[in-house]
Amino acid sequence: MSTSSEILNRAKTYRDETARVLSDLVKIKSYSGQEENVCRAIEKVCRSYGLDDVRIDGLGSVVLRVGHGPKILAIDGHVDTVETGDVSQWKRDPFSGEIENGIVYGRGTSDQKGGAAAMITAARILRDLDYSGAFSVYFTFTVMEEDCDGMCWKYLIEEEKLIPDFVVSTEPTSCRLYRGHRGRMEMVARLRGVSSHGSAPERGVSAAYKAARAILAMEELNASLKPDDDGFLGKGTIVVSQVDIHGPSQCAVPDEAMIYLDRRLTWGETADSAIAQVKSVMAAAIGEDESSIDVQMPNYTKRGWKNADYAQELYFPTWKVPADHDLVVQGVEAYTALFGKDPVVDKWTFSTNLVATTGRHKIPAIGFGPGDENQAHAPNEITRVDDLEICSAFYAMLPYELEKKV
Ligand SMILES: [Zn+2]
Repeated sequence: MSTSSEILNRAKTYRDETARVLSDLVKIKSYSGQEENVCRAIEKVCRSYGLDDVRIDGLGSVVLRVGHGPKILAIDGHVDTVETGDVSQWKRDPFSGEIENGIVYGRGTSDQKGGAAAMITAARILRDLDYSGAFSVYFTFTVMEEDCDGMCWKYLIEEEKLIPDFVVSTEPTSCRLYRGHRGRMEMVARLRGVSSHGSAPERGVSAAYKAARAILAMEELNASLKPDDDGFLGKGTIVVSQVDIHGPSQCAVPDEAMIYLDRRLTWGETADSAIAQVKSVMAAAIGEDESSIDVQMPNYTKRGWKNADYAQELYFPTWKVPADHDLVVQGVEAYTALFGKDPVVDKWTFSTNLVATTGRHKIPAIGFGPGDENQAHAPNEITRVDDLEICSAFYAMLPYELEKKV
């Protein structure tokens, strides 16, 4: 029997168990930084399947290894979820993990414990087949992605020295093959005024009016941003997400303004270029020199469940991999070998851990995951058991196909 048929048979045999594992993971609440219970559960499931090369890293992510080849393929899924939002909008308990008519229900089914469950099954399949090819396949079940995408991988690469040759993200793609997404960053702009008594505004310079002009200039800047050359990722965006204006009292001209910005970055846009652009556009809008405007990237500093000290700036670089790259081509081959047709090749709208592996560290990556991107962070989140089966087969097949090119 061919490898692809063996893999498909096993993915089918394990299908209901994959769904049950997902259901169990959904029942364990795991908001960002509070993933200990779900990580312990994943480690336990792996060991129960005889997948013993499994450990928890310094930040709290679970790292499972199958195979001992010299090349490293990392298959990643984050196991934290966002909160439920307004529970009254959910038709079922967000943590029920109910399985009914081929659908698994609950927070994290698509984003993205479904990917994690399919990864565990793929590891099991590779073990069943005694995989001993060119790759060490690392399955990483990572933490704190929803708060700070990629920080878990910055840690794995820079602190634990796990440096893959190729990475696959299992975030939801509706079983399409993705090869890029826009990057993002956060910025804080500070403008200064001169305070005076509220009875005599002509003696002061209002930071509020400066901020108002600067903010409206951001609306124009957003409209003027251009797409990338080949139009694959589309245009970047800028949003004013918070404003805070302060003075000595509510009866005074305010002398401080803070404008918080969310910026999505297309190909060719970087943190430096985006900061310089905001400075120059705001300076023009308020008629002052750029040096009067302070624009910084804040840091992410939250502590995770292992209480490790680790932080990074809120910058998540853009990434894409060319359509003719070996990883994309062999990913397409793996899909075709299994399912007898070509996958759709596309991109994500949102951001993933690949900002670190690929945006920051330039390691080639693709995305392929169960469930739909539009389920992410929405009430009544679901995923399909069919997708879990397809993805478990794809992850197991990929090292065999990649091997033909390394
Ligand atoms: Zn996600």
